[in-house]
Amino acid sequence: MTQYDLAIVGGGILGLAHALAAQRAGKSVIVLERHSQCIGASIRNFGFVTVTGQSRDRIWPHAKRSREIWAEIAPKAGIGVAHRGAVIAAQRPEAEALIEAFLDTDMAEGCTRITPDQAHEKIPALDPNAIGAALYSPHELRVESREAVPALARYLESLGVVFRYNCAVQAVDTPRIETSQGPIKASQVVVCPGDDATSLFAERLQPRQIEICKLHMLRLRPKTPFRMEAALLSDLSMIRYHGFADLPEAAALQSALAQTQPVQLANGVHLIVVQSGDGSLVVGDSHHYGASADPFQPAAIDTLITDEFDALMSCDYEIAERWTGTYASAPGSVYFIDAPDPATRVVMVTSGCGASTAFSIAEETLAGLG
Ligand SMILES: Cc1cc2nc3c(=O)[nH]c(=O)nc-3n(C[C@H](O)[C@H](O)[C@H](O)COP(=O)(O)OP(=O)(O)OC[C@H]3O[C@@H](n4cnc5c(N)ncnc54)[C@H](O)[C@@H]3O)c2cc1C
Repeated sequence: MTQYDLAIVGGGILGLAHALAAQRAGKSVIVLERHSQCIGASIRNFGFVTVTGQSRDRIWPHAKRSREIWAEIAPKAGIGVAHRGAVIAAQRPEAEALIEAFLDTDMAEGCTRITPDQAHEKIPALDPNAIGAALYSPHELRVESREAVPALARYLESLGVVFRYNCAVQAVDTPRIETSQGPIKASQVVVCPGDDATSLFAERLQPRQIEICKLHMLRLRPKTPFRMEAALLSDLSMIRYHGFADLPEAAALQSALAQTQPVQLANGVHLIVVQSGDGSLVVGDSHHYGASADPFQPAAIDTLITDEFDALMSCDYEIAERWTGTYASAPGSVYFIDAPDPATRVVMVTSGCGASTAFSIAEETLAGLG
């Protein structure tokens, strides 16, 4: 039986990020994925590598480092960057005040306040009359996740990483791993199970009170084509990103939203709009938490999302796709690296920002494993 230096459970972005870090450290690596391809959060997301607005101490440094790695590997792996940067549009005076407060912090490095017309230049369908100002951040990247994740896997394979799909891992007792395709040996094991907290190491994970967060997503096809230079976010987004939401000025925005958009708040709806190579727009999202995700996608939640889109964008469209995605969520936790034994780690992103942080978290895991 071949013995690998490192086995990774899970072929999502977190597993692939660990494979990249380990391959760069000169380790022989195998990735074990239970499905025939990654079908989890990593291909259902916006592919929005978000830096500005991330939680200052816990996420922002990981996001900055991960964005660097995305920018470096994208051309090597044949991953297209659809657009860069973000426009955070302020619809209300309270949001403008929050942007001003944010600009006074060191987290605003490279960011500027822009006028509605300047925002409209970057996003031609954005109605300049719908906003009072905007924050422009140059830091973000947007990749098409459903293409980027398989492309990254192919790139890793070309570097010698071994992939085994349709291979469910049933037990890990490093160096022995029991799988649906027979046992595998590896000196070290990193488990990146996405939102599955009830299989491997379930007893260790149980005290973390991990829940599933379910999100609604849409693909809109504009009837008149236009090109976005940057991603778009709205007032509702600012109170979800802790880099903004933790500032004292966020309280006024929160209470204005509670009065005018209580249904959106109750359903965790905010607005992110990103664009794909074919001109279509990926638009979302909503947040519903529970022990498991129900399989249904009520149209009323989709409408809350398109209402927010319509409030900002002057654009006729058809809805081309609808889907849901899930990620792990845990109280007070943004990610964790658990060590059941010195050669084994369980790594989970528990705050819905894995596309923005995985590469840097993987470097932290590998540094700890030695
Ligand atoms: C709709 C949506 C939008 C999002 N938007 C963004 C965004 O724009 N920016 C951002 O930074 N983040 C975003 N996120 C969050 C981000 O997608 C996740 O944090 C990230 O994808 C988690 O990656 P992962 O590899 O841990 O999980 P996953 O992608 O779920 O991968 C886990 C993999 O492990 C496999 N697996 C689990 N257990 C086993 C086992 N026992 N044996 C074998 N295989 C196993 C699963 O089959 C799965 O393929 C979004 C999430 C969703 C759902």
